[in-house]
Amino acid sequence: MPSSPRRDQPAPGHAQHAPGQGQAAPGRAQSAPRAQQAAPHRARPARRDPPVPRSDWTPPSRRRVRALRDRLRLVYGRPSAPPHAQPLDELILTVLSQSTNDRNRDVAFLRLRSRFEDWTAVREAPVEDVEAAIRPGGISKVKSERIQGILRALGDPPSLDHLADLDVATARAELCALPGVGRKTAACVLLFSFGMPDVPVDTHVSRVGTRLGLFRPGAPFEELHDDMLAITPRGQELELHVNLLRHGRRTCHAQRPQCPECPLLRMCPWGRSAR
Ligand code: SF4
Repeated sequence: MPSSPRRDQPAPGHAQHAPGQGQAAPGRAQSAPRAQQAAPHRARPARRDPPVPRSDWTPPSRRRVRALRDRLRLVYGRPSAPPHAQPLDELILTVLSQSTNDRNRDVAFLRLRSRFEDWTAVREAPVEDVEAAIRPGGISKVKSERIQGILRALGDPPSLDHLADLDVATARAELCALPGVGRKTAACVLLFSFGMPDVPVDTHVSRVGTRLGLFRPGAPFEELHDDMLAITPRGQELELHVNLLRHGRRTCHAQRPQCPECPLLRMCPWGRSAR
């Protein structure tokens, strides 16, 4: 079985792992230097903003998106995660990442890799064995059934390598037709495996982007993905995804965002209005 993909933070927070290199499940991009990390804070609980109707929404200008990108780049650098060309690994890793942290996801992935010879063996194994292998990743009953469902829906042997030859829309549609696979998971596979221009919008990217005025408050995930693609400068999909994600993890927390210490405060309508 091939080595595992990675994402942004160590052990694959996915998205925080950079694929296919090293041992443990990969972190896609390196963490920012400590000196750049947010200082301790006295954050206040986050408020909830009402949804904005689509008809009342004005998308951010390209200039504003570039300014935010540049500010994030100053804080977090430019992440690098060359495409690893292991789309099935990436898909399984992304399934394992649901409702758990990067470390537990990586442990589950590596156990799965070590206990079975290849993805065909995972598909043919008793589901209880798959469930036992990935137990450290949480909700293992659901995930084991989903993984086997995906593997059964693929060819023999299971592979997604052909996606590299498809255009993004076709490849995305094919992925989203698999059991339990949605836009975010498909975008992870396309971006991290092949460097295709797609952008995963997870809970951090969604929250930070909405507070910064990139997304319409109340937008459903399908719209968030479409809007994220529309505003992201071509070729910078990985950078914008990873740096928004990092900012969500380090500073712009869901419950207690550290607005007073946030380097984006002056550019953030949500943070300024909370002062
Ligand atoms: Fe998030 Fe910073 Fe805006 Fe506060 S000022 S909401 S921490 S991006």
